[in-house]
Amino acid sequence: MNKMNTETLYQHGTLAMLVPGLLAGTLSVADLLKHGDTGIGTLSGLNGELMIIGGVVYQMAADGQIRVVGPKEMVPFANVHYAKQEPTTKLTNVDYAQFQQAALDQIGTENIFAAVTVTGKFTRMHTRAVGEQVSPYPTLAATAEAQQEFNATAIDGQVVGYFSPELYAGVVSPGFHLHFLSSDHVMGGHILDFELESGEIAIQPFQNFDLHLPIDNNDFRREHFNSRQVIADIRKAEH
Ligand SMILES: [Zn+2]
Repeated sequence: MNKMNTETLYQHGTLAMLVPGLLAGTLSVADLLKHGDTGIGTLSGLNGELMIIGGVVYQMAADGQIRVVGPKEMVPFANVHYAKQEPTTKLTNVDYAQFQQAALDQIGTENIFAAVTVTGKFTRMHTRAVGEQVSPYPTLAATAEAQQEFNATAIDGQVVGYFSPELYAGVVSPGFHLHFLSSDHVMGGHILDFELESGEIAIQPFQNFDLHLPIDNNDFRREHFNSRQVIADIRKAEH
């Protein structure tokens, strides 16, 4: 594959795998970064939230600490792509629902995958980070108890993440799945809500979706997925 392919969204694992508790990391960060320089994910054991920006992987842990992740650490689930310089549009004074509508208007269809990035100043930012789970792993629904929420006001930073079509729920979290990293690297995580005071939004559409599965992982090989349960639990956990 072309190393700088900006038309492809790469994904390791599926969100469905997290639902029954397949939380062990199955791909190294070094290998993940062979497929993109920008993205989101989590570490083995659902340990925190990853923000991948400019080829650097940052983790926001449930204790609120942010650090740079090393190449040998493992991910059970992540998305990356190569960021392309896309034209930006200025947005001012929008809440999260208005932001999502504006982003969707810019994507122009709800049937494609697209990266969504925002650089700006947020009136309010509300995130969460899941705490590390240990084997035998709990279900995704049970990990909600291990998550910590974070709130900040008047904070500068970057949003990175994706819009995914409803049709692929289970493989992905449908709709918007966005993470945040503040400019000073002291606040971040999986976005639950925000208000944007002023920012530049960029949309990068993908014509390819490259799904990479951990075919040698025995727990994954043995799992029998109930797709109805999977989709219901993803909606609860990720929104
Ligand atoms: Zn997330």
